[in-house]
Amino acid sequence: MISFVGAGPGNVDLITIRGRRLLEQADVVIYAGSLVSNEHLDFCKDNCQIYNSASMTLEEVIDVMIESVYKGLKVVRLHTGDPTIYGAIREQMDFLDAKAIGYEVVPGVSSFTAACASIKKEFTLPSISQTVILTRIEGRTPVPEGEDLEELAKHRASMAIFLSVQDIDRVVEKLAKGYGSYDIPVAVVYKATWDDEETLFGTLRDIGDKIKSKGINKMAQILVGNFIEGDYERSKLYDPNFTHKFRGGK
Ligand code: SAH
Repeated sequence: MISFVGAGPGNVDLITIRGRRLLEQADVVIYAGSLVSNEHLDFCKDNCQIYNSASMTLEEVIDVMIESVYKGLKVVRLHTGDPTIYGAIREQMDFLDAKAIGYEVVPGVSSFTAACASIKKEFTLPSISQTVILTRIEGRTPVPEGEDLEELAKHRASMAIFLSVQDIDRVVEKLAKGYGSYDIPVAVVYKATWDDEETLFGTLRDIGDKIKSKGINKMAQILVGNFIEGDYERSKLYDPNFTHKFRGGK
């Protein structure tokens, strides 16, 4: 059996209980070494075979999986955050489907929610935004037309931007065009939940300089929107003037 497991954003306590159990039982672990803390490996059996996928091709990863499964071994493919977001798991699953090899996907705490927890905010505030956009700027991987940051910013939804801090000037330029303003709150969380986490607050006007003066150019979430700063309406859910199914009327 192969389990794609979300390791969580960094701190080893933020993997799910199911994910930890699978790691404890695994005979083979293939982990994404550039982003997953290797402290997770302390929970593996002594004789567990460990592979760091940072130095492997997709084909090499698949070969290890297939050989292990044919030997009847339990395999964990450990991905950072939640595996379904920028995890490149689909191409692995399609290879396994072609070989009729079974697998499961175990979710994880994504870095976008971990980052929002670090700054102690809520993405979805009444009258501010009820939508969260998860996106990135194009890099070597293209972004389809219509999903350009400038277009997305026009929605004024809360945003969590992955894989983009190295390109902060272009990010800011596109967002400012979309919003029609530089006075939009931004928070950048570098290595959310790791010991060397850093949090920066600013606006589209000054966040670029702040990021550069800290030398941050990878592993950061760029959170954007008025959920970070400013007023909002309180939620109807806990409003005494509203009743709902779990809290009947007088
Ligand atoms: N599947 C992962 C994302 C993988 S893409 C998830 O759900 O979080 C890698 C990008 O995720 C990084 O470039 C960065 O933007 C973000 N990221 C991953 N871990 C992070 C962390 N601990 N803090 C901030 N951003 C992080």
